[in-house]
Amino acid sequence: MNAQTNVGQQDGHDDILDVVIVGAGFAGMYMLHRLRGLGFKARVFEAGSGVGGTWYWNRYPGARCDVESVQYSYQFDDALQQEWEWSERYAAQPEILRYANHVADRFDLRRDMQFNTRVISAVFDEGRGRWVIETRDGARTTARFCIMATGCLSSPNLPKFEGMASFKGDHYHTGHWPHEDVDFAGKRVAVIGTGSSAVQSIPIIAGQAKRLYVFQRTPNYAVPAHNAPLDPAYVKEVKANYPVMRARAKQTMTGIDFDYSDVKALETPPAARTAEFEKRWQRGGLSFLGAFQDLMMSEEANGTAADFVRGKIREKVEDPKLAELLAPKNTIGCKRLCIDIGYYETFNRPNVELIDVSEDPVEAITEKGVRAKGQEYEVDVIVFATGFDAMTGALLKIDIRGRDGLQLQQKWSEGPRTYLGIAMAGFPNLFSITGPGSPSVLTNMLPTIEQHVDWIAGVLEHMRERGLTAIEPEARAEEDWVGHVGELAGRTLRYTCSSWYLGVNIPGKPRVFMPYIGGFPRYVERCSEIADKGYEGFSLS
Ligand code: FAD
Ligand code: NAP
Repeated sequence: MNAQTNVGQQDGHDDILDVVIVGAGFAGMYMLHRLRGLGFKARVFEAGSGVGGTWYWNRYPGARCDVESVQYSYQFDDALQQEWEWSERYAAQPEILRYANHVADRFDLRRDMQFNTRVISAVFDEGRGRWVIETRDGARTTARFCIMATGCLSSPNLPKFEGMASFKGDHYHTGHWPHEDVDFAGKRVAVIGTGSSAVQSIPIIAGQAKRLYVFQRTPNYAVPAHNAPLDPAYVKEVKANYPVMRARAKQTMTGIDFDYSDVKALETPPAARTAEFEKRWQRGGLSFLGAFQDLMMSEEANGTAADFVRGKIREKVEDPKLAELLAPKNTIGCKRLCIDIGYYETFNRPNVELIDVSEDPVEAITEKGVRAKGQEYEVDVIVFATGFDAMTGALLKIDIRGRDGLQLQQKWSEGPRTYLGIAMAGFPNLFSITGPGSPSVLTNMLPTIEQHVDWIAGVLEHMRERGLTAIEPEARAEEDWVGHVGELAGRTLRYTCSSWYLGVNIPGKPRVFMPYIGGFPRYVERCSEIADKGYEGFSLS
């Protein structure tokens, strides 16, 4: 490979770059736009061939957002939110990807983006006070700042099943889906996994395939999406009231405009409690868990919601034994709640079979299919809906080295350590958007991304105005933040199950609850306070 040092001279850039941004999902796109607006010279490196991140990679059938589209969209530019028309309550992946492309066109983002370019290392050159970013083609680029917009759910997890290479059919991971349509018609298909990606894709695959085997290790709770085309009158009303709705959303724990109840399930008479669950079930969507304020704090309260959903599963699934297998026993909301379109009913179809691998794991992938419970299930296609190495995966895949050669892999060997989920001691001028230690995946990611981007842009502006060239969290501030994140996490029921929030889905990953669970408003307030105090807890020079 022909290694070269690129100081921003590609494509006619004559100046040294101020910032390298890694990733062209919603975070990287807005970061570039924001920095350009402030007059910084920035360049984005993206592994894929286009913008959109999650929505570029996750092209599996049925992929759509689980936060309503009128909320799962940018708000930084009013003209943008006024002109874009969402067609459905929960837009499907092609529409969200079109939106990302529209944003890229509208703000002319692509001229500072380099696609098909995977960053393999980022090393801080202390002598020059610059990051040296190396891409897979061997090129090196230097910049004062490096911003990781690499995504929380962007590093697919393909478990190391024995015999993987021997399978003669086609296989796909939901998070790395081909750009061409995959035709399941007349085929025998295996889906491994029953998380959100599986819950969305299984009903569609089942409608096309000759036979579908679903390998379930842990059943999941799903509430109905009741997805539908958006009523133009409703859209008009939303557009007229966007600022109010967005402001209301920012006051909720998740950054989603829901009616969160402040009533406790355990202080509500059973009939009224059921009526509230039923009302939210009929409405559909994630607001189901906002029915009572103690659902994620008390096991007994949580049990009332879990019982309600289990009851619904029993109503939907005709075979009682199958219904029991599909009914989760764990805490509802501990893993991310799925929203579904006909998921449980799919198991009433004669061409669908559920294989419970909770006690006996998948034994192997064979030449002809999947072996489990001593039986070989012969298939033409295997779909791995096995999730992601979440929150830390994409970052740790890059060889990131800070001061004194400190490797991120080394620093995070016992779990991620950050200040605010944005920066790390020992790694000057390096930022991560929605990193571990921030509310991130527990929220509507679009406003969360915008908040991080604005905050980071504010830091860079602050430094430029004062002639400062380096910023880094103090070890003590980081230590306190990590302690605070862990302490809050320990208080909720989300700590109790084997979820990807805890890294438990990846063998050998430290069991640490990664996102900040204190809620969006509290987090934003803390970030603003820190900025107002001249970036308290950071050392600037
Ligand atoms: P991403 O969209 O993941 O983009 C990161 C980009 O960085 C990718 O394009 C990747 O290729 C690139 N990258 C990573 N590493 C490198 C590297 N080393 N070199 C170069 N490029 C690199 N959130 C919600 O709030 N609501 C939803 O409804 C919702 N639905 C989701 C559905 C699915 C199927 C998935 C997987 C996630 C969903 N999420 C949802 C979370 C979603 O990831 C975020 O909402 C959001 O899209 C993240 O944007 P991002 O830019 O931070 O990261
Ligand atoms: P996931 O929730 O982590 O689900 C992965 C599934 O694969 C789980 O059922 C898991 O079982 C199973 N699995 C993993 N390894 C296995 C193995 N070795 N053997 C058998 N089963 C195995 O991943 P995901 O469904 O891709 O979703 C990840 C996140 O992305 C979601 O939580 C959500 O935040 C986001 N997402 C959102 C949407 C949406 O609705 N908008 C759609 C897709 C994804 P266990 O549970 O037993 O580990």
